[in-house]
Amino acid sequence: MHAIILLGGPGSGKGTAADMLRKETEYIHVSTGDMLRAAIKEGTPVGREAEKFLTEGELVPDDVIIRIVEDRLDEGTGHDAFTFADFPRTLGQAELLDRSFEGRNGSIRHVFCLKAPPEILIPRLTGRRICRSCGTNYHVVNIPPQVEGVCDNCGGELYQRSDDEESTIRHRLEVYEDQTRDLISYYDKRGVLAPVEAGKAPQDTMGEILEVLQKDGA
Ligand code: AMP
Repeated sequence: MHAIILLGGPGSGKGTAADMLRKETEYIHVSTGDMLRAAIKEGTPVGREAEKFLTEGELVPDDVIIRIVEDRLDEGTGHDAFTFADFPRTLGQAELLDRSFEGRNGSIRHVFCLKAPPEILIPRLTGRRICRSCGTNYHVVNIPPQVEGVCDNCGGELYQRSDDEESTIRHRLEVYEDQTRDLISYYDKRGVLAPVEAGKAPQDTMGEILEVLQKDGA
């Protein structure tokens, strides 16, 4: 069992990279955010514990997070290569993940740290539009829909996330820096950190990631 971790702030493209990895390699994406939302919808014990944190936009406690991750690792779907892009978010989660992997003969292959300057990230995020019906992402300049404000896939209405406004974005970038500083130095000391230039087109960022993976035969 092994994993890749993608670290990157808002707009760095880690969701896109996780998606591309799923298509081009054996790595499947495990998202704690998605698993929490599903658990809440199903009303499981984890869902009931996590609900208030999601509603308030707070981080869910580490012990709850590691429980859903371990349940997923132990599902026995035949997959043993995972990408995480929204986990670990704290040093505590990183340590718990190490312990989980120790018990499962697993390892962290690489931690890709996607970096881009604010002058690239801010326009990426302020231009983002999302379909209310099917969730497809667009960008007013980079990936415009055929008809302004209308989803190409389903005809749904496109909207801008309220936290994709410039002042909120600057704050989100600062929060990200604060939250990940410790994680970055933790993985750097372990020798698994690989910085990736994320200010380029998604396929170029992906090319860099694939090159690192190919070098160690992963
Ligand atoms: P996201 O989908 O990544 O925006 O996460 C939505 C919410 O889920 C966050 O605001 C947290 O409440 C919770 N969450 C998702 N992943 C984690 C995690 N690794 N650690 C703690 N809370 C998380």
